[in-house]
Amino acid sequence: AQQFVWPIIRLGDVVDDYERAKTAGLRVDELLMRDPVVRDHPDATALTVSEGAVTFEAVTFAYGDEPVLQDIDIAVEGGTTVGVVGPTGAGKSTLLKLLPRLYDAETGAVRIDGQDVRAVTLRSLRRSIGYVSQEPFLFYGTVAENIRYGTFDATDDEVERAADRAQAGEFIRKLPDGFDTLVGERGVKLSGGQRQRLAIARTMLKDPEILILDEATSAVDTETEALIQASLQEFAADRTTFVIAHRLSTIRNAARILVLDDGRIVEDGSHEELLRADELYANLWRVQVGDIQSLPLSSSNERWS
Ligand code: ADP
Repeated sequence: AQQFVWPIIRLGDVVDDYERAKTAGLRVDELLMRDPVVRDHPDATALTVSEGAVTFEAVTFAYGDEPVLQDIDIAVEGGTTVGVVGPTGAGKSTLLKLLPRLYDAETGAVRIDGQDVRAVTLRSLRRSIGYVSQEPFLFYGTVAENIRYGTFDATDDEVERAADRAQAGEFIRKLPDGFDTLVGERGVKLSGGQRQRLAIARTMLKDPEILILDEATSAVDTETEALIQASLQEFAADRTTFVIAHRLSTIRNAARILVLDDGRIVEDGSHEELLRADELYANLWRVQVGDIQSLPLSSSNERWS
């Protein structure tokens, strides 16, 4: 399903910032210039973020006939870190894609500080949201241009600092032309983990009020991941953050954890509260820490992401 999802994300992002990218002399792939699926409402106004409170109100969503999200009601206070967990296919990524309007809810509403995301301009919405996915988009251009994407006025110093915070500075400086190395389709091929770190650097530079991390470090080695997690945690501290993580240890310190199963929120609480509740989250936690004896279900680790 990822193949169907990512091209649409690119369209939205690239069309939105195309003029600025062109002004900055960036090479933007023609293929990405098709119409986005989601458009500005004619009366759209700019989003203004004060607290960064996020609410989902009676939200349902389906890609086709199959319902993917049902009866989603969530109210998140500004500045909170929320872990989103559940089996593969539960609807975690879909849920968070409704926030930057990569898709629109079918019924119900998604709001930021009371403003329906469908009533604000895409440009202002996406400027306020940092979204790091499993498969981040890089365009053909230099490493620096890719990090600067979305924050075109950043200085070289700021670009390098963002790269260092994302644990990317070291590998970038070893590339043939450092920050001026061409990457993307026809440039130097970067590993999945390196692409993820560039995307994290891009987001840190952008400094958004709201942060979405969807398996943002899934392709990074364990040692580097621990370093990035520490710096992401610091980065997330004063902004509303949603984290989808395969490893539950990544989100155990989140103020709040939402457990999705089959398109519904089945549990909602802190790590300790969910362990005490002793239901789906507690079972999957025991699987991941290796305490298999107390596992009453046959669900495997693979199903859990
Ligand atoms: P999770 O993130 O929990 O693994 P997803 O939100 O990715 O779940 O997917 C939820 C359901 O929606 C799955 O059944 C998946 O196959 C389906 N799905 C995801 N993306 C698309 C898409 N672009 N088109 C059609 N179905 C999709």
